[in-house]
Amino acid sequence: MALSKEVYKEFEDVVGEENICDDPAIMPAYFATEFAAVILPKDTAKVQAIVKLCNKHKLKFRAISTGWTGVFPKNTILLDLRRMNRIIEINEKNMYAVVEPYVISAELQAELFKRGLNFCIKGAGSNCSAMLRGHGHLDQTTSADDRNHLAIEWVTPEGEIVRLGSLGSSDEWFCGDGPGPSLRAIISSAVPPGVTPGVFTKAAIKLYHWPGPSKLPVVGKSPRYTLREIPANMMARYYSFPSVEKMWQAELKIGESEIAYELMGFNASMVASNITTCNEEEEEVFRRISQEVQGPGFFVIIAGNSPEDFAYKKKVLEKIVSDADGKSLKSVEDPEIEGILLCQCVRISASIRETFRAGGAFNSIPIMGQRDLTIKWAIGAGEAKKPLIKKGLIVDDGGAFFGWGVEQGHLGKTEIFCRFDPLNPEAKKAVEEWRKEQCARAVNERYFADLLMAKIDESGPSLSNYHLWWRKIVKELDPNSVSPEGGPLV
Ligand SMILES: Cc1cc2nc3c(=O)[nH]c(=O)nc-3n(C[C@H](O)[C@H](O)[C@H](O)COP(=O)(O)OP(=O)(O)OC[C@H]3O[C@@H](n4cnc5c(N)ncnc54)[C@H](O)[C@@H]3O)c2cc1C
Repeated sequence: MALSKEVYKEFEDVVGEENICDDPAIMPAYFATEFAAVILPKDTAKVQAIVKLCNKHKLKFRAISTGWTGVFPKNTILLDLRRMNRIIEINEKNMYAVVEPYVISAELQAELFKRGLNFCIKGAGSNCSAMLRGHGHLDQTTSADDRNHLAIEWVTPEGEIVRLGSLGSSDEWFCGDGPGPSLRAIISSAVPPGVTPGVFTKAAIKLYHWPGPSKLPVVGKSPRYTLREIPANMMARYYSFPSVEKMWQAELKIGESEIAYELMGFNASMVASNITTCNEEEEEVFRRISQEVQGPGFFVIIAGNSPEDFAYKKKVLEKIVSDADGKSLKSVEDPEIEGILLCQCVRISASIRETFRAGGAFNSIPIMGQRDLTIKWAIGAGEAKKPLIKKGLIVDDGGAFFGWGVEQGHLGKTEIFCRFDPLNPEAKKAVEEWRKEQCARAVNERYFADLLMAKIDESGPSLSNYHLWWRKIVKELDPNSVSPEGGPLV
């Protein structure tokens, strides 16, 4: 559906002719969706004006920050927020940063490193928006997801500007709650499918201490960046263990002693994809290190605030690993490989390889909660992959799952991939069935399921019927049904 000339003109009057487009040859550059128009607002007032026009003409809209993912119904008005790209404030004393949607994580991190600070960067990569919630490699120290949002500026689906948390009462960004009843819970889901309707225009996010240098000494070329030298008081290692139980016990102790800057339960396949540059090399390295590891394992970064602090953390780590019969993977002790992993996992630039690996497409089920329970679930999901591997329908990555600690092990996440050839319909169908069964098992057997992939009608009854409440809230917020949810991730 093309917009009528009159309606198009109303939108054009808001943003100017150079910031709106309904050209069917240009719009597919965004997504394989037929959009009604793509509009690039410059600030919150313009976003508000566009949303009000969408309500007036009953047109559906969705915003994107970097547009890395998202699902958009046909005829949606797409708000591309790339012109809203300012870091508004870095508050060193109170440790928060205020950003607009198109500030990417790499930009913010570079500014923060200069100030001895860092923040939670989504594992999706530092090319994604710094503003929207996410989880990833740094969660052990930087927590994750909505835990990092403070005050937020939000244009509701009807076009009201809501200033959540302390911003609404004191014009300050330091807190996401109150005064009085907090709206924090309903704005905490800006990742499909639980996408909050409306548009986030600014957010304050929590900052954390960064013990490393103000600038990492990066050398090399993409995708093989490494470090000229390992920064003082930093170390990266990969340890494997004889059993899941021993690995898990070591993770727990590392969390309790708060010594790890990063704890990422990569499997051998992910280590291989992180340190290689093409599929052939990766396959070869994967086969080799699969023989070197003795079982499941994790990648860990230690970062000391002083030589003494570093020596202490290292000593504690060595004791914990040795008590659990862990073994260091020799390849990672090579400073060049150590540098690659430090680079990738602090700057969060590896995900695209970690995720896709040889195979072409993937399906993934992430679940969050108590790490030991999520691991138990993932072992079952890995077993269920074996017949598909045997039939040659999916890539053999050792059936491996991965996961990581959040807030020094207070929480944990576990995720499992299924990699397959997207051009093989039999493989696609088999992977779909595997995902459906394993999502259902996560809910039915009461492991806390991430809702990313589950249908909310299926998971809702196990979680206080939240799906019924969510729909009531959305109906109130969006009476004209102009701001649909984002749909599943892949
Ligand atoms: C290979 C791969 C790996 C990934 N790994 C991780 C991971 O480890 N951790 C993780 O947390 N996520 C991961 N993801 C998911 C990722 O967080 C999201 O894909 C998100 O798209 C990241 O980009 P973004 O934040 O710029 O949001 P976008 O891609 O721009 O948008 C994501 C969704 O949010 C909506 N949206 C965007 N901006 C706004 C706004 N300002 N107001 C309202 N709604 C908005 C969009 O409509 C869309 O539905 C991964 C995705 C891929 C493809």
